[in-house]
Amino acid sequence: MVGGLSIGGLETCVDLPELRVAIDLGRVPDVAVARADILFTHAHMDHMGGAPWHCATRSLRGLPPPRYAMERCHAEAFGRVMQAWRELDRSAMEHELVLVSPGDEVALAAGRKARCFRSTHIVPTLGWCVLETRRKLKRAFIGASRDTIVRAKGAGEPIHDETEVPIFAHCGDTTIDVLEREELPRRAQVLMLECTFIDESIGVAEARARGHVHLDEISGRPELFDEVGTLVLSHLSPRWSPRAARAILDERLPPALRAKCAYFLP
Ligand SMILES: [Zn+2]
Repeated sequence: MVGGLSIGGLETCVDLPELRVAIDLGRVPDVAVARADILFTHAHMDHMGGAPWHCATRSLRGLPPPRYAMERCHAEAFGRVMQAWRELDRSAMEHELVLVSPGDEVALAAGRKARCFRSTHIVPTLGWCVLETRRKLKRAFIGASRDTIVRAKGAGEPIHDETEVPIFAHCGDTTIDVLEREELPRRAQVLMLECTFIDESIGVAEARARGHVHLDEISGRPELFDEVGTLVLSHLSPRWSPRAARAILDERLPPALRAKCAYFLP
């Protein structure tokens, strides 16, 4: 289940209650105050502007300090913003920063982890993929007696194969190029992809120049989503009402792709 809200240029906060993590804090929906772990994609105001409010509000409600994962290059300016709010709010604004570079991982609740990857926007941007490690008995031990397995385990022999399953990926603000380069979001059980522009009022070239995805690029490249379980289209520009957006998306997506699409609309 995915909660929160994502409207291009206004606000993005994607809440994943089952994974106990949220992505970005533009404005902060009430549900996200409960989230201690936040993964930031980039530092545009509509994706990070809510952080001081989130931090202070958690403290007011007696919740533990949040943990903010963000790209290393934002640390210094973010620290200055929080210091300014410490002075203005006369509060400690306590939080933990986890600074990452593409490829780094952050441990999440319930043994899961999030690995970040480089997205292609007009400012430094990360995508995030939540991975779950699943263990399967090694082929050599299938059908073996319990004694054999216990003995092998006792002798320190590995009895399981581990595989990482990409259960949820979010590319942040990006152009479609991220999917050509990154394998994880292409294999995600649920992929949330921005689709800021959906008709010819802003065409593909202009969408790309603004660092965003145009619907025509998604409908024209269905093969990019062959391995994706559910494709969630998000971050639509507010120039279309949710109803108008739904009609355009329904009409322009190829039927096979539309069948696995969900729309993250207000
Ligand atoms: Zn942006």
